[in-house]
Amino acid sequence: MSGCGCNRKAEVTLKNCPLCKEKCKSLNYMAVKLVVKEDLQKFVCQDQYYICNSEDCDVVFFNEGEEQIFLTRDINLAADFQEVTKKDKGSCEKSCKGCERGKRG
Ligand SMILES: [Zn+2]
Repeated sequence: MSGCGCNRKAEVTLKNCPLCKEKCKSLNYMAVKLVVKEDLQKFVCQDQYYICNSEDCDVVFFNEGEEQIFLTRDINLAADFQEVTKKDKGSCEKSCKGCERGKRG
């Protein structure tokens, strides 16, 4: 069922953050589950979630109904945080081989 991209219903839905009112992109609940603290994972349901990328905002995830809001302190920092990092990961200041290998051209 999952993992197949044929069914392209992947429209990006935007919703305003309940706190900072920035536009937030939709996110699969599984991605949320992966990074929230263990005792909070049971609250993550098969709902549409949104991610707030505003650095000044404490909200990281919230769901469609906005009754579930995960703040920065609810995130397990030991988890793979790439998906939800609030820092710009686009550029690398170091001469990192990993970055160079990623270059195309
Ligand atoms: Zn926000």
